[in-house]
Amino acid sequence: MHKILVSRCLLGHRVRYDGGAHGPFDPLQQWQAEGRVVAVCPEVAGGLGTPRPPAEIPGGQGGQVLDGLRPVLTDNGEDVTAAFCDGARQALALVQAHGIRMAVLKARSPSCGNREAYDGSFSGVKVAGEGVTAALLRRAGVEVFNEQELDAAAQRLARLDLEG
Ligand code: SF4
Repeated sequence: MHKILVSRCLLGHRVRYDGGAHGPFDPLQQWQAEGRVVAVCPEVAGGLGTPRPPAEIPGGQGGQVLDGLRPVLTDNGEDVTAAFCDGARQALALVQAHGIRMAVLKARSPSCGNREAYDGSFSGVKVAGEGVTAALLRRAGVEVFNEQELDAAAQRLARLDLEG
């Protein structure tokens, strides 16, 4: 039975930067009941508190953070790059420990976003991009879905189960 890495805030854990959470989402609850879910909040794992200041990546490309080309900055300019990278590495370690091949992560987060990110201006401008954890997992071959792609994630999981 394949396991899935899931953002903690999508499971109702109140770990968002503003102390909030999301969900519940039906398939995630079902996968939890089946014992498939490995939960992670990369930012909390990386040592950041809740609530915490919002953070964005200038340009919105998590891969550039991993490559040391861009920082992750809070809205008052604090550099939180190290915590974001540490959390990403912890997520990768979980993936490796559990043989995980797919993840469902929160859309547009500077850690978890898989297709879009905010551009670093803290003005709500989105760009095609990804968060730091999503980028590291993608580089490791993990398929990353978001909470708006749960049907596609369920189909992928069914295929993985068939493959054994
Ligand atoms: Fe944590 Fe990711 Fe959710 Fe942000 S989006 S609260 S980093 S799990």
